[in-house]
Amino acid sequence: MHLVPTQEEVIALLKQTGALRHGHFEYPNGMHGNEYLQVALAMRYYQHAKILSVGLSRLLRANPEIRAIIPELSIVTPATGGLPVAYGVCEALRAHQVYWAEADGNDGRLRFRQYLEQVPGERVLLVDDILRSGKKLTELKQLVESKGAEVVGLAVIIHQPTPRTPDFSLPFYYLAKLEAVYYRDAAACDICHRGEPLEKVLV
Ligand SMILES: [Zn+2]
Repeated sequence: MHLVPTQEEVIALLKQTGALRHGHFEYPNGMHGNEYLQVALAMRYYQHAKILSVGLSRLLRANPEIRAIIPELSIVTPATGGLPVAYGVCEALRAHQVYWAEADGNDGRLRFRQYLEQVPGERVLLVDDILRSGKKLTELKQLVESKGAEVVGLAVIIHQPTPRTPDFSLPFYYLAKLEAVYYRDAAACDICHRGEPLEKVLV
């Protein structure tokens, strides 16, 4: 394994842990696809989580602007899936702190726990296990900026863009890029036409 794992090494690790599955899947929104990815299945093994987050931290450290502010850098994640990445990156970089937002039970919007407040001018690195639609990371970015913090970058283990993934206009780091084949529904799905068995998945 390289110090920064290659795309091939990351994909091998995801397959070996069952995090990346090939087949015929139906997503909750009705789309069909040939691939299913659940990074948490890889992150349950501490050594794998460590390899991935240390690799990501090496990419971050190579940016001189981020390297210069590591002692004051906050690592912030929008979801539980990002927690092992956030702690791994914080440990490897020796950054200042880690915290996370959670979806509020009433309206589903992201919030921080009581007394967890950004200080004006705080430098924040956004971290998650995966960037897919970018919905939660967009909301998190707006939330920390509304409190006067400055977002200095975005780091994820896997970049799996969709046509709707926004451009964050931030320094962006990832270890591997995955592009699955999606079909809008069963009627449009080539895999359905081949008659392969279908598995329903929750995202
Ligand atoms: Zn299908």
